[in-house]
Amino acid sequence: MGTKFKINLDACTGCGACEDTCPEVFKMVDEKSTVNNETVAKNIAAATEAMNSCPDNAIVSV
Ligand code: SF4
Repeated sequence: MGTKFKINLDACTGCGACEDTCPEVFKMVDEKSTVNNETVAKNIAAATEAMNSCPDNAIVSV
């Protein structure tokens, strides 16, 4: 697994769950999630949990 994530914007429904789980990495902008990959390494456990919890599988590890 890499230590960067990206959002499949076509799949993301803007539910906000990833930001709730790991606000250090995921931030909602215009009802879509965005990733701050600068902070992934320090928050890898929560970021991975957010990826695994995304109801639309819109967070992918790259
Ligand atoms: S949890 Fe998934 S669907 Fe929900 S805002 Fe985050 S990326 Fe989008």
